[in-house]
Amino acid sequence: MAHQEEVGIHDFVLLDEITLQKFMENLRKRFSAGHIYTYIGEVCVSVNPYKTLNIYGPEHVAKYKGREIFENPPHVYAIADRSHRAMKQQGKDTCVVISGESGSGKTEASKIVMKYIAAVTNIGQRQEIERVKNVLLQSNAILEAFGNAKTNRNDNSSRFGKYMDINFDFKGDPIGGHINNYLLEKSRVILQQTGERNFHSFYQVLSSCKGSEMKFLELTGDPKSYHYTNQGSSSPPTDSDRMNHRATIAACKTLGFTAAEIDTLWRVVAAVLHLGNVTFAVDANSDGVKVTGDSAAKVSRLLQVTETELCTALTERVIAARGEVMQKAHTPVEAEYGRDALAKAVYDRLFTWIVKKINSAIDAGGFHHKATLIGVLDIYGFEVFDSNSFEQLCINYCNEKLQQLFIELVLKQEQEEYLKEGIEWQAVEYFNNEIICELVDRPHKGMFAILDEACLNVGKVTDEMLLEAMDKKLDKHEHYTSRQLCPMDKQLQHKTQFRIRHYAGDVVYNIDSFLDKNKDTLFQDMKRLLYSSSNTAIASMWPEGAMDITKTTKRPLTAGTIFKNSMIALVKTLASKEPFYIRCIKPNENKSPSGLDNNRVEHQVRYLGLLENVRVRRAGFAHRQRYDRFLKRYKMVSQFTWPNFRSGSDRDGTRVLIEEKGFAHDVKYGHTKLFIKSPSTLFKLEQMRAELI
Ligand code: ADP
Ligand code: MG
Repeated sequence: MAHQEEVGIHDFVLLDEITLQKFMENLRKRFSAGHIYTYIGEVCVSVNPYKTLNIYGPEHVAKYKGREIFENPPHVYAIADRSHRAMKQQGKDTCVVISGESGSGKTEASKIVMKYIAAVTNIGQRQEIERVKNVLLQSNAILEAFGNAKTNRNDNSSRFGKYMDINFDFKGDPIGGHINNYLLEKSRVILQQTGERNFHSFYQVLSSCKGSEMKFLELTGDPKSYHYTNQGSSSPPTDSDRMNHRATIAACKTLGFTAAEIDTLWRVVAAVLHLGNVTFAVDANSDGVKVTGDSAAKVSRLLQVTETELCTALTERVIAARGEVMQKAHTPVEAEYGRDALAKAVYDRLFTWIVKKINSAIDAGGFHHKATLIGVLDIYGFEVFDSNSFEQLCINYCNEKLQQLFIELVLKQEQEEYLKEGIEWQAVEYFNNEIICELVDRPHKGMFAILDEACLNVGKVTDEMLLEAMDKKLDKHEHYTSRQLCPMDKQLQHKTQFRIRHYAGDVVYNIDSFLDKNKDTLFQDMKRLLYSSSNTAIASMWPEGAMDITKTTKRPLTAGTIFKNSMIALVKTLASKEPFYIRCIKPNENKSPSGLDNNRVEHQVRYLGLLENVRVRRAGFAHRQRYDRFLKRYKMVSQFTWPNFRSGSDRDGTRVLIEEKGFAHDVKYGHTKLFIKSPSTLFKLEQMRAELI
């Protein structure tokens, strides 16, 4: 027991009282003792250590391989092993869902899961399997180069959501995979907050552009020279940018990118930098604008389009009205808007293209349908900034959906297990956040639908009018308001802000630019321009450029609708698999290995629903264990089972032990497992055991 005093309890279910205070106390104890992992049943809670821990080496892999969760100290390896074994032994798809806020350690956890799986598979050293493993691991380097950035919360923050399926053959060895990416934060391409950087790729290219191989990019090497890298932080590229640039190229080669394709990556990145420096002046000869400076020429060389066509696309647009095609000159504001939209779109398409390339390198081909899967989800956590916009609405909606799934699956899983084991089930009360999901995604009536309707009339409808429409349709909803409801509420700015009462807490959103971000317009002229590129990779990123303007009447889907649909599909995918959860917590704001900031951590514990999770787990049975495992662990506490129980099955042996120790009132006997109701029983058993060893 003295030991537990110092290092805390390895499973929150075993706390003697479920209060936030006790929870925090235990988390703090464990964190101070260097134990970053703690369970809630089979859910792994992880606190970012912000330092390198010596717990991931081969000897640790060996320790967790093929073991039950309770046999070793809590670890992500145990979760990875469970998900792999469940998949291998029962032939069913599993998934590991990793959640938590930015900087809490999600991406690291996902890499730890993948490395563990790579370490325990392919004992036979089959060459093709080694290749697949290599590609799976290397794909991270490329995705991080193009999709990660330094933010104020995390120096290597993923600015996109990722769901990766790994396919396994009947031996349990990886034979392929598939990545789905979600909503890259493309606004970062043109704008960053103070202290933050653009995507790493820009600095990687700037760090290495002086060499003869990269001369054709026509870059200076200094972020200060470029509008898009001269905002939040304009400090020069670092040594690690230079090293990572080489690592990105090496990873691309492993994945089978051709030299021309690798070239294209840097061409597009450099073109975006030059594009940001394109300026416009009012054209005295017409009523429109003209391009000034020499940046456009560089952009056209890099994107392999003609300069004239690029300049035309930047300064005017073609419109089709009643079958007739006309030119309409941009105003200076429209021209700048168009340029920035082009920069964002070009980068976004590049990212999607990269994911597609990775997918073709790891495609399991014809074996796909026979293989079983492990899905790994590493997706943005709940976000509350000083100012929240459309992106935060999408991200927080994503978390609502995942929370809903979590509640449903955890409960569903419990229920199914009780049924399977022939044990009576009692329903548990919990807050169902379905109502908040519906506030956002309900067909015709939800926020995304109202947004889409307003976008049909862009030009006539303003953001303010959109807010009025939301007020009209959502005002009765108990989780929505645009007014201050009571003196305690945070004051909402009239006509510009609204608040959603998320399961994780209140978030105030600014309606400003919602319409624009949802519509996500890119003038058709730009799409045609890029489709005309003589670089086949670039042209392939813009298939819709081939469409005839008079025939492009179909409205493209809005950003909100695309995101909503992808979330619904994601939830469906996850729901069809057996889930395992890693819930990540960020200990403090200073990226410091010591110190757990009470308020910040309490907040995360609350919105991750961890206490609720413990309660659900305990409401039924705090603990369950297979009879053979149970006896193995506790047989020494009873004279009847030590050193072995000889007069019956493991189930009988367990019963004898339980009855002798006076716990009979607190347990139920399932078909294969013993179910223990109160944690104190397990506690006492653990204590008896500890006294004997
Ligand atoms: P998230 O993906 O949740 O935003 P990351 O996984 O990128 O967060 O983690 C942020 C940083 O925290 C990492 O770059 C790393 O320095 C540190 N970190 C996270 N998890 C661990 C870990 N298990 N061991 C050591 N350092 C870690
Ligand atoms: Mg991340």
